[in-house]
Amino acid sequence: MHRRISKEYEVAVIGGGPGGIPAAIAAARRGRKTVLVERNAFLGGAATSGLGILGYIDRQGNKALGGIAQEFIDRLKEIHGSIGHYRCPVHNSITPLNPDAFKIVALEMCLEAGVDVIFNQELYDVKAENGRVTEVSTYGKCTEYFIKAKVFVDATGDGDLAYMAGAKFVSGQDETGIMQPSTLMFSVSGYDLDRFLDYAEKHPEDFGIKEEYAHGYDPDFFRSTPGHCFIGLTEMIRKARANGDFEVPRNQFIYITTPDKDRLSINTTRILNIDASEADQLSDGLIEGYRQIHVLLRFMNKYVPGFEDARLVEIAPTLGIRETRHFKGVHTLTRDEMYSDYVKENAIAQSAYNIDIHSGTQIHIDLTPVSKPFGIPYLCLVPETLDGVLLSGRTISVDTATYASARVMGPCIAVGEAAGEAAAIAIEEGKDVRDLDVQEIRKRLRENGNLF
Ligand SMILES: Cc1cc2nc3c(=O)[nH]c(=O)nc-3n(C[C@H](O)[C@H](O)[C@H](O)COP(=O)(O)OP(=O)(O)OC[C@H]3O[C@@H](n4cnc5c(N)ncnc54)[C@H](O)[C@@H]3O)c2cc1C
Repeated sequence: MHRRISKEYEVAVIGGGPGGIPAAIAAARRGRKTVLVERNAFLGGAATSGLGILGYIDRQGNKALGGIAQEFIDRLKEIHGSIGHYRCPVHNSITPLNPDAFKIVALEMCLEAGVDVIFNQELYDVKAENGRVTEVSTYGKCTEYFIKAKVFVDATGDGDLAYMAGAKFVSGQDETGIMQPSTLMFSVSGYDLDRFLDYAEKHPEDFGIKEEYAHGYDPDFFRSTPGHCFIGLTEMIRKARANGDFEVPRNQFIYITTPDKDRLSINTTRILNIDASEADQLSDGLIEGYRQIHVLLRFMNKYVPGFEDARLVEIAPTLGIRETRHFKGVHTLTRDEMYSDYVKENAIAQSAYNIDIHSGTQIHIDLTPVSKPFGIPYLCLVPETLDGVLLSGRTISVDTATYASARVMGPCIAVGEAAGEAAAIAIEEGKDVRDLDVQEIRKRLRENGNLF
């Protein structure tokens, strides 16, 4: 016996991460009755794991995101939750974030826009009639919600709504099905970054990335740039592994600065060969993640100068999932058309990040710089075989290479805002989301300050 609550909305956004929050805000700001349903006790999704946001600035140094994406940062700065955007030779730019501040800002912006936010409810069932999704149910705390809406936005990351509704998808990368690995993020304090960088200066062979594109990614850069993401220590890791002290399938140590002087986020666990959209594998992935965090804490204390006294501050609330299902949209963006006229004329967001593929089977990362941002066409958000649904965040229809860029939070936020605007227009005009005039969506997004 459980409670049942029925609700009716115009727009229902499922999933309150970077792809979901702006969708709900944008639809509600257009006066649409909007709900945002989140299974966790907070908004933010992967933005609450300690990561900085990638994608605000392109490789040439131009701003690539405006609109709600920039509003987040302006609001975060007011409560010391952001220190702004920093350029980087490897990542193009990074915008560090305080995860808890993001939870507050995201919720405030939703409530101010008039969004009904429902926490602790996970998608449970999806009702589709002749291919049109009309109702979903969610479950949590002995209560089932039945939510009817005219447009549903699937912002669950794994595309749980589209999956349950029977949309076409493939798991993992084109041809191989391999998925980028998952990572359980954690953060530390009690380190001495100056001493770490002194060591870096004396051991250039073990620091930085050797490829041409990474020119300038050196200790001077790390010292002078409060917002940075360090990747290195390959040699030290090799030695630690030989001593049996690095049972983690990765050849680089990655930390990311945060807006807090005494807190670094560590992005170094690597969980290979799991499909994290499957509950049992997700659970196993978490168990492995906790094991690896313990290994990494010992590694830092024993091997890394400046980290002898580093201690655990926090473990991310959920497993970080890089890749799972890819849905078939009316359009699928591919690498060879990234800069085509079609993409330029139909873009509703842009991705300024690089093609960054963490190997799903080996210990390395493959990074290909993206020299100028590419557009994401609207029809990548529309599932080929479902009506009344928009894909947002990392569930959009893209190939392996474009996914490896567009999956990061900056483009996910921009896509989310576009999904919210499109949902609002569909309701105003009484049309299905697949039949909208893309130029009208683009016009509104530009008025909101979006850049593409
Ligand atoms: C380890 C790691 C490192 C990364 N590094 C960076 C980085 O440095 N910078 C960067 O910009 N990006 C980075 N990314 C990528 C980025 O974080 C994600 O791709 C991005 O957050 C995707 O946004 P999203 O909204 O689609 O999904 P998510 O952030 O996963 O949000 C999905 C939301 O939906 C909720 N949800 C899921 N399923 C359900 C359900 N069934 N019912 C109800 N709610 C549900 C979740 O709880 C969550 O809040 C990284 C990703 C990983 C995993």
